[in-house]
Amino acid sequence: MSVPFSPVFLLGKAHCGSTLLLRLLGKHADVLAVGELMRVGESLERGSPCSCGAPLPECPFWKRYLSWLAELDHDWRRFRPGLYRRIGADAGRAVVLDDSKTLAWRVRRAADERTGYVFMLRDSRGILAAALRAGRAVDFARILRRHEKWTKRLARLAERRAERTRVLFYEDLCADPEREIRGLSTFLGLPFDPATLEPAREALHLVGASGSSWQKGSSEIRLDERWREELSADRRAEIERVMARIPLLCARYLAAETARA
Ligand SMILES: [Zn+2]
Repeated sequence: MSVPFSPVFLLGKAHCGSTLLLRLLGKHADVLAVGELMRVGESLERGSPCSCGAPLPECPFWKRYLSWLAELDHDWRRFRPGLYRRIGADAGRAVVLDDSKTLAWRVRRAADERTGYVFMLRDSRGILAAALRAGRAVDFARILRRHEKWTKRLARLAERRAERTRVLFYEDLCADPEREIRGLSTFLGLPFDPATLEPAREALHLVGASGSSWQKGSSEIRLDERWREELSADRRAEIERVMARIPLLCARYLAAETARA
């Protein structure tokens, strides 16, 4: 099967909902969702298991490919689009979908004409509330600065490579998964596969999969808006000041609220 893009990198920040997207698109008969493949070295060092539950070296899927990655010292800086396509071809899948997020930006110069992107955006208030919940946001001001820096960086890359990029909002995916998955399938040059509408409970082999327990094991797709209760008014205002400086976020989230108010 000839498709316009493979690999396809998910651009986004932690907690943007990319794991949900992987659990949906990973069910597509022509898609191989690999998780955060660029973090494979880190995962091996830490002993983090594959999402199937098996230790990576014993995972029935990955044990075949770990030697390919070992030839590159598991060093993501040396992973090229061709490596992804070789794994995809060997596994019989046309499109390889990777969730390494910001690392895809770091290897942007190694991308080729067949490298595609899905830029996944979510309300920053939801992302920051999730970071606080995960206990990683001890220095809130710093986390917020990094959030702004990375969102702007990824938005610039998505804009420069617009013809190879599909922008996806987490909230739209939750509101109408079929419409969004159909649109993505068209972008990827694939037929729509109804299997994608039920998130995978198992059977996927994702490297470095998100530790979020939100709806794990559930096939229901539900919008996570816990930030509405969790964020203090001060923090919410700080986040909104950052969002106002990023046109994509401002137009999507803040302008709509102002219009409704
Ligand atoms: Zn596995």
